[in-house]
Amino acid sequence: MSSYPQDAACRGMDPAIFYPMRGSAVKVPKAICNGCSVKAECLAAAMAEPERYGIWGDATERERRAMRYALAPSTGRARRLDEAVTMNAAGWGRREAAAALGVNVGTYMRYLKDAS
Ligand code: SF4
Repeated sequence: MSSYPQDAACRGMDPAIFYPMRGSAVKVPKAICNGCSVKAECLAAAMAEPERYGIWGDATERERRAMRYALAPSTGRARRLDEAVTMNAAGWGRREAAAALGVNVGTYMRYLKDAS
C-alpha cells in the first residue's frame, strides 16, 4: 500500500523541477507525476490546501484552477466567469461586458484568462 508523501516519486528531487518558470515545458515534472503511485493523494492534498503554485498530482496551476471551477459551478465568481466567456464569444466589447458584470476591464480580462 502506498502512502503520501513517503512514497512520492519526487521524494529527494529538486523541488524546482515542479515549479517551472511561466511558459517553460512541464513535460518532465508531469512525466514524474504520471508514474507516481501517490498521484491521487497528492492532487487531493493540493486541491484541499489549495496549492496555488507548481505541479502537484500531475496537474498544473491552471489545470487545478479549472478543476476547482468545475467542482464549484454555483459560486458567484464561477458564474461571472461563465458569463464573461459567453459575452466574449458573442462579440461584446471589453468595456460593455465589464460594465454588465459590474467589474473593471482588468477583472473581466482576468476572468477570460482564467477560463481559458
Ligand atoms: S504526484 Fe508528482 S508532485 Fe505529487 S507526490 Fe507524486 S511525483 Fe510528487
